[in-house]
Amino acid sequence: MFCSVVSSLLEYFSDPMRIVYFMHYVELVARGVIEQYCFDVSILFLTNDLCFGHRPGKQHPERPERLSAVQEGAVLSDLGSSLVHVEAERIERKEILQVHDAGFIEELERVDAQGGGRIDPDTKMSEHSWEAAQISAGAGIQAVRELTEGSYNASFCAVRPPGHHATSNQSMGFCFLNNVAIAAKHLVDAGQRVLIVDYDAHHGNGTQEIFYEEPNVFFVSFHEWPLYPGTGKVEEAGVGQGLGTTINIPFPSRTTGDHYRKAWEQIIQPKIALFDPSWLIISAGFDSHRNDPVASLGLTSGDYAVLTSEIIKAVPPGRRLVFLEGGYDLEALRLSTAAVLRTLAGDPLHPEKPTQNGPGKEAVESIAKFHARNS
Ligand SMILES: [Zn+2]
Repeated sequence: MFCSVVSSLLEYFSDPMRIVYFMHYVELVARGVIEQYCFDVSILFLTNDLCFGHRPGKQHPERPERLSAVQEGAVLSDLGSSLVHVEAERIERKEILQVHDAGFIEELERVDAQGGGRIDPDTKMSEHSWEAAQISAGAGIQAVRELTEGSYNASFCAVRPPGHHATSNQSMGFCFLNNVAIAAKHLVDAGQRVLIVDYDAHHGNGTQEIFYEEPNVFFVSFHEWPLYPGTGKVEEAGVGQGLGTTINIPFPSRTTGDHYRKAWEQIIQPKIALFDPSWLIISAGFDSHRNDPVASLGLTSGDYAVLTSEIIKAVPPGRRLVFLEGGYDLEALRLSTAAVLRTLAGDPLHPEKPTQNGPGKEAVESIAKFHARNS
C-alpha cells in the first residue's frame, strides 16, 4: 500500500511543472497560516494636524477638509484598538535629496521663506505648506521603520499634500514632494524590491518618472484617460534596466470595478509574480470614486475594498504601506478610507456595493494584447 502511494506520487511529480505548482500552493497556504495566527492585526494610522496648515486657497479642491474626512473614515472603520494612531514626523533633508534635486528643494524653501506663492497653475504654497509637505514625506520613512520593527500588519499614511505628480525636479498637480517615491527609494537603498500600485484617477507621472529606469521598483498605475497630466499611455513601460517594470492601465470614464479586477488578474498579477516584490506601497487616490468632482471613473468604496484586498496579497503582512493621494468628494473619502482600513485589517468593509458591467472591457482587452505582444 505504502509503496503504491509513493510510486503514484513519484509519477505525479515526474512533470516538473507540477512541482512548481505544488510549491506555489504550499507557499500560499503558509502565508495564509502566518497571516491568520502569527500577526496581531494592528494597523498603524500616521497623521498629523499640521497637515491642515497647507491652505492652497478657498476654491481649491485639495482643501484641509479632505484630511478631516479621512480621519472620520478611520473612526468609521470601527477598528478600535487595532488602529494605532501615531503622529507623523517631518522628514530629514537628506532623505528628500535621495529623490529630488537640491536646486528644486532650495526653490521650494525660497518660496516658503517669503510666506508662500504659486508653484504651477494648480499648485500653490501657503504659509504652512512646506511644513505639511515635509511631514507628508516623513510619514513614509516613519511607516517603513515601524513596519520593519515588526509590530504592525500595515500602515496608512493620512497626510496631505499628496505626492504622486511631483517629479524629481518639479512640483505640480497639487503635489510638492513625491511622498511615495521617497519611501520607495528608502526601501530600494536597503536592498528591497518595491511594488507601487497607484489607483488614483490621475496618472502618477512623478512616480513613474523617478523610477522609469529602476529595475527594483515595479510601478503600476490605473487611471482615467484622457485626463491630467496627459501621461500614462500603455506604451510607457520603462526604459533600460527598468524596461517592463512599469505598467499603465488607462481606462475610459465611468469604468467599473470588475474591469480593474480583470486587469489586475490577467495583465498585472502574472508580471508581479515574476518580479517578486518584498514591499508594497499603494498610492491611494480616492478620486476614482464615481462621485468625485474632478474625475469621472465609476468606482465605489466597495470597489476600493475589493481591489485593495487583491493587491495586498502581493506581499506578506507587515510590508504593506498605503498613502493618501487625491480624492475630492468628502463622503467618498470617508467611506473609501474606512473600506481600505478594514481591508488592511483582514476584515473588508463594503459601505457601497462593488460595481460591474460599465465601460472598460475593451480597454482591458487591448492592453492585454499589447502586453502579450511585448512580453
Ligand atoms: Zn488624482
